[in-house]
Amino acid sequence: MRNKQSWETREWQRPLHVVIVGGGVMGAATAWFLAREHGVRVTVIERDASYAQASSALSVCAIRQQFSTAINIRISQDSLAFYRSISTELAVGDESPNIGLVEPGYLYLAATEGGATLLREQHALQKQHAVHTALLSPAGLAERYPWLTTSDLVLGSLGLSTASSGEGWFDGYAALQAFRRGAISAGVSFVEDDAIDFVVDAHDGPSTVRAVHTARGQSVEADAVVIAAGAWSARVADKLGVLLPVHARKRDVFAFEADVDLRDAPLLIDPSGVWFRPEVQQGRFLCGSPPRGDDIDDVPLDQVDRGLFDDVIWPVLAARVPAFDALRVTSSWAGYYEMNSFDHNGLVGQLAPYTNAYTGCGFSGHGLQQAPAVGRGLAELIATGEYLTLDLSPLRVDRIAEGRPLLEKNVI
Ligand SMILES: Cc1cc2nc3c(=O)[nH]c(=O)nc-3n(C[C@H](O)[C@H](O)[C@H](O)COP(=O)(O)OP(=O)(O)OC[C@H]3O[C@@H](n4cnc5c(N)ncnc54)[C@H](O)[C@@H]3O)c2cc1C
Repeated sequence: MRNKQSWETREWQRPLHVVIVGGGVMGAATAWFLAREHGVRVTVIERDASYAQASSALSVCAIRQQFSTAINIRISQDSLAFYRSISTELAVGDESPNIGLVEPGYLYLAATEGGATLLREQHALQKQHAVHTALLSPAGLAERYPWLTTSDLVLGSLGLSTASSGEGWFDGYAALQAFRRGAISAGVSFVEDDAIDFVVDAHDGPSTVRAVHTARGQSVEADAVVIAAGAWSARVADKLGVLLPVHARKRDVFAFEADVDLRDAPLLIDPSGVWFRPEVQQGRFLCGSPPRGDDIDDVPLDQVDRGLFDDVIWPVLAARVPAFDALRVTSSWAGYYEMNSFDHNGLVGQLAPYTNAYTGCGFSGHGLQQAPAVGRGLAELIATGEYLTLDLSPLRVDRIAEGRPLLEKNVI
């Protein structure tokens, strides 16, 4: 599984010290795998140890197998296997992390023949990869979920929780902290500072990063660097003169209560794009939808769009689940999707023209569920020059320059 770039011909040199910019779930997972599996010394530069704005702390933390591309399916399968065993994988001494993974499935609904065709096509791909999804007619949906309005529907696709195809959700902040604690226990240093620039040996051809400058005046020498700065990755890459199409796009989440027990409900995606899922406590739910209007960059996170709930989400919820006609919004928050405007998929691998710069970013709303497999793969690539377990080269950054998008149709 060699992933040599066309511009890169030198023999592989294992880095002694890797500096990771960004200590969210992606940076922390990569650090853990590098230190634990490959014995590499790692420093993570994270500007805010409270993770107040980090997507990993503001996520809805769901995991699914229902993707439209083979690579995303494989990544989620491997990551699910890791998350299922995280309490042993990331145990530190007597402390075993508990991320509260539950697997009630995802339910995609289609209300048009076009939408149903898409679900059928994806069902065929998912079947090839041993993903167990059931296509349900409106009658089948009504039988399974008596609380659901099905009269306008054509088809539903439900992920069935089996050994190879579980879908559900977990506590993403707990997963982030588990990786962070595990990494520290494996010898990784977390430094609270802002990475503001790089020292590079720049040439016409291959170039090299030598060090990372921080806001507190440190110059941290590096044999390799990783940009895992989430929604801010393009800004960091810009300091290397590399353009990444990654944008901070605000997404609002609303928590509500309703007097109905749907604890076994899946994460439901309405044909309109509005979604909801139950919380563990009876009668509590989370919901959201794509933004209305233009999807603008860098909208401040304190500007939750309450009108989105009142005007867009609630009418859809009440029509789809009549019991939601009466509900109370109890809280709301916003976080950034690290949106890759090129093709809505992760950008993983080397950053040309640098021989020793890498990134894992642009996951466009599915990075928490992909962190274990991506962190593992990035660590392999950095430490050995190739992917050893799962070939992540379909996500290579070069696809942008080549003009070859890897389009993921299932972005919510
Ligand atoms: C509302 C919402 C719902 C979501 N739902 C899901 C879901 O259901 N399933 C799923 O898989 N994913 C979901 N996601 C996406 C998921 O949360 C992200 O893909 C994932 O958390 C990205 O992790 P990260 O480590 O790359 O980024 P982050 O968690 O944002 O971490 C990046 C870190 O980099 C730091 N940083 C930035 N610049 C610098 C710098 N210059 N120097 C030092 N540090 C820096 C930041 O402080 C930050 O802590 C959702 C996201 C949101 C916002």
